Amino acid sequence: MARPGPWTQSEFAALAKGHALSAEDAAAASGRSKGAVDVVREGVCVYHRGSRDTTLLSQLQKDYLDANRGALICWRCGAGL
Ligand SMILES: [Zn+2]
Repeated sequence: MARPGPWTQSEFAALAKGHALSAEDAAAASGRSKGAVDVVREGVCVYHRGSRDTTLLSQLQKDYLDANRGALICWRCGAGL
């Protein structure tokens, strides 16, 4: 059973740094469902493209991305976050 509930900062950081992993591998590494990984990853791409008000990410996740600008790569685009 996949872990429910909000992502902790360390969980989200691990996912964000694991941009090269497949969704299946990222799900296995995080203990989350693939669907949960897909939603958060979608949110990361939407957010860095300028939709700052996306509801796909929690405020904690947005804050983490803001605090780590330039240090992360988008799993989809390969763009710097
Ligand atoms: Zn992207």
